[in-house]
Amino acid sequence: MTSAGTALLHSALILIRMGPSPAMTPGCGRDSNAPYTPSPMTRPAIPERLDRFMARANAIYYATHDPFADFTTSPEISQVFGEIIGLWAAVTWQLLGSPTPISLVEAGPGRGTLMADALRAAHRAAPGFAAALQVHLIETSPRLRAAQAARIPDATWHGDLSTVPDQPMILVANEFLDALPIRQFVRRGTGWTERFVAAGQWAEQPADAADVPAGRIAAEGDIVELNEPSRDFIAEVAGRVRRHPGAALFLDYGPEHSAAGDSLQAIADKRPVNPLSLAGSADLTAHVDFADLGDVARIHGAGVQGPAPQGPFLAALGLFQRTERLARNRSPEQALALVEAARRLAEPTAMGRLFKVLTVSSPACPPLPGLPIG
Ligand code: SAH
Repeated sequence: MTSAGTALLHSALILIRMGPSPAMTPGCGRDSNAPYTPSPMTRPAIPERLDRFMARANAIYYATHDPFADFTTSPEISQVFGEIIGLWAAVTWQLLGSPTPISLVEAGPGRGTLMADALRAAHRAAPGFAAALQVHLIETSPRLRAAQAARIPDATWHGDLSTVPDQPMILVANEFLDALPIRQFVRRGTGWTERFVAAGQWAEQPADAADVPAGRIAAEGDIVELNEPSRDFIAEVAGRVRRHPGAALFLDYGPEHSAAGDSLQAIADKRPVNPLSLAGSADLTAHVDFADLGDVARIHGAGVQGPAPQGPFLAALGLFQRTERLARNRSPEQALALVEAARRLAEPTAMGRLFKVLTVSSPACPPLPGLPIG
């Protein structure tokens, strides 16, 4: 994709993530009576590498804010999203040979909605899987852990994957990788600089070309991004599914092919804001470079399917049929809202194309449902 294409994708994404305006969703905005908490984010004058700045800003943001007052995610749009992922996990468990026990892991579970919906569907439709699974949640925000505990009291929490039992696992992650911190390199002449942040402003420092992801076509001034924690996470997942039967499903936004472009964005109060000036009070994210992450998984010996668009994935797994069944017992207004929610998840002009799906699985595992093969 060209830089112009990336810019277009960027603005489409801001509109999609912000969701309906607060006026259209009563009760969804931040409580205006709540006491105002001043941002604890400091603005050091010494240049700080972008990934360190972003990690600090997001840790403060997720610990002090209700992110769902600022943006909307698929599980919050329709219960069918989590239910379908629960059924995907049940089928995947069978394809893996029904290992028992199996960890059902979610990375970055937000309010716990996806997992609660997935577990309900699994209990109803796949009791064998429901009996075999143990829920593990990877979450760093104490505030969100509390929200998750209210919905999934039997889960075990972790700060990262390292403490999740080394045993068969199915991992799901929706809009997790986009929150992990990126580095940005700028093409300058025949070399590269790296972006730092100093006192709320951009600063560039000479970069080591060896740090810049290879094979990106970049003109003067173009930006190339690198997400090291995402690469490390995928490598760790790949290592685990090589040692034990397992599979992971990542859903997030990003292009199908790696390309140059600045995808850093910040949203606060449902509005795009300057990522540097409102850091700690805004959700900082970047597009997920799925092609790069697929390569990392392959290098570590795992099977990979995708990236493929989210729309066809959800449709193949029965999004519309399940929505229709659910709508039958509802009022006409509720039924319409359910159908509109399903369309929003799957239609190419909404989330269906911009959001992608990638799976990483044990090398011997047969093809997983809903995705093109290998
Ligand atoms: N999956 C949820 C929430 C997405 S928001 C949904 O779809 O609604 C991102 C989530 O990732 C939040 O739960 C946030 O606290 C968590 N998160 C962000 N950075 C993290 C990190 N480094 N380690 C673990 N969780 C993280």
